[in-house]
Amino acid sequence: MVAIYPGSFDPITYGHLDIIERGVKLFDRVIVAVLCNPNKQSLFSQEKRIEQIRHCTAHLDNVEVDSFTGLTVEYAKQRKARVLLRGLRVLSDFEKELQMAHTNQSLWSGVETVFLATTKEYSFLSSSVVKEIAQFGGAISHLVPENVAKDILMHYS
Ligand code: ADP
Repeated sequence: MVAIYPGSFDPITYGHLDIIERGVKLFDRVIVAVLCNPNKQSLFSQEKRIEQIRHCTAHLDNVEVDSFTGLTVEYAKQRKARVLLRGLRVLSDFEKELQMAHTNQSLWSGVETVFLATTKEYSFLSSSVVKEIAQFGGAISHLVPENVAKDILMHYS
């Protein structure tokens, strides 16, 4: 069974990586799909985000990294995947994620969203938190993979 893990990944954090590493134990293949949303300003380009994810998932055989624009369900149909993988950190995630899962199901009844609860130590972690810390010179090496930390430091230096 193929699962798609869609997201902005701007940039990928250890929280995302944890979901991917646990996802590959549950599914035959996980496609990490970088959403390119022209209305959302991102720190890293689509190509850079793909490169960052490929680098830190290189140790996982059954992970593919790709990008898409438009509706997630259309992308899932195209990739013949019926599962969307998402992570849940806090209650506020649940509200947003549930709404998205219902929306996606209304667009394609064949799709199921599977949620993995965050590993406790990453429950506060988001790409925005990392960017905010880095912007003010704080340490981020415990929050993102080494290659990503380098890219962020270069950006803010
Ligand atoms: P989006 O803009 O689609 O929310 P993100 O890159 O912020 O994209 O997140 C992608 C998915 O990963 C979401 O389901 C989000 O809840 C989940 N996620 C992000 N950070 C963590 C974390 N620290 N632990 C578990 N899940 C996470």
